[in-house]
Amino acid sequence: MSMASPESASFEASSDAQAKTPAFADFRRIVIKVGSALLVDRAQGRVRLAWLTSLVEDIAALHARGCEVMVVSSGAIALGRTVLGLPSGPLKLEDSQAAAAVGQIALSKTWADILGHYNITAGQVLLTLGDTEERRRYLNARSTLGRLMELRSVPIINENDTVATTEIRYGDNDRLAARVATMASADLLVLLSDIDGLYTAPPAQDPNATLIPVVPRIGAEIEAIAGDAGSELSRGGMRTKIEAGKIATSAGTHMVIASGHVKNPLKRIMEGGRCTWFLTSANPVRARKSWIAGALEPRGTLHLDDGAVAALRRGASLLPAGVKRIDGQFDRGDAVVLRGPDGAEVGRGLVAYDSTHAARIMGHSTSEIEALLGVKGRSEMVHRDDLALGVE
Ligand code: GLU
Repeated sequence: MSMASPESASFEASSDAQAKTPAFADFRRIVIKVGSALLVDRAQGRVRLAWLTSLVEDIAALHARGCEVMVVSSGAIALGRTVLGLPSGPLKLEDSQAAAAVGQIALSKTWADILGHYNITAGQVLLTLGDTEERRRYLNARSTLGRLMELRSVPIINENDTVATTEIRYGDNDRLAARVATMASADLLVLLSDIDGLYTAPPAQDPNATLIPVVPRIGAEIEAIAGDAGSELSRGGMRTKIEAGKIATSAGTHMVIASGHVKNPLKRIMEGGRCTWFLTSANPVRARKSWIAGALEPRGTLHLDDGAVAALRRGASLLPAGVKRIDGQFDRGDAVVLRGPDGAEVGRGLVAYDSTHAARIMGHSTSEIEALLGVKGRSEMVHRDDLALGVE
């Protein structure tokens, strides 16, 4: 497929207008997705250690600057299939599940070893579709990632391919990485790929294809040029990358696609190397708060005392002690309305307890939660990250 030149020209015009691409130094929380074709040597079925070491060097530099980094790493199936001696070409579901079970061990160990050289602790996180799409599990995964970040660990994330079946899988790590980035309110998603960005047409087919340096907004014309460039080792083509871009940019996360076929690929982007930026106009925290405030149907109401209302307005979380009364039936992770003593809505939030447990601990201090419920629950009734106040 080739693009008519006036349209290519308009891409360039829009990128000139936006010549200012974001600087890495502006980002605080970054998700880096690494494809199988980069990580695993196709002929030998082994990790490309020298390249991975150069990437980890870049990650360590970001980490040392105080950045929070998460990695979404493919490669489990590609590594495991070699060890198990499975044939090349598409695998049957049970073979890819078995390959993932074997390959994931090697994959995580490799990341942990190399990060360890830089005194960075790796944490393995395996997710299935439900972990990002079901609200209760989403909160769990989000808080685990948040805690790992606080502890300065680098999560190494992959789809849990061993238990994922066709109906319940992402299938490609581009979209998984975008969901992780939005779930963790990351401000940047980096897709390291075997292509250095989005072209006006598939470059292998069209010698006149040019790289689009900046996509200010993913519109119909961008979707139209996303061909399907999947290779045997990785599932995602340009189509899944554009899908990832839509997920990320609509939730306040910038995305950049760059080649991983160079050493120190992140440094290369920072130095202005070839890549495509997909910009977002939103801010991830604000985008999430407007989602909580507007998109979710509230399932109940928490009535707060004056002290709790004042604490929320100072930026604190809602503790059980500040809740006087509860209306409605809700599950953990549902949206609830928060009202002050005069009945006025103060804001909305995602509640950390279901209505039965919330009723049991309301009015009590956090230290009493374990005695009241028999389990050590979360300290907050609504965490401040899950709170959208009316005045925002
Ligand atoms: N989760 C798969 C693996 O680790 C890779 C999926 C993809 O390449 O997008 O092997």
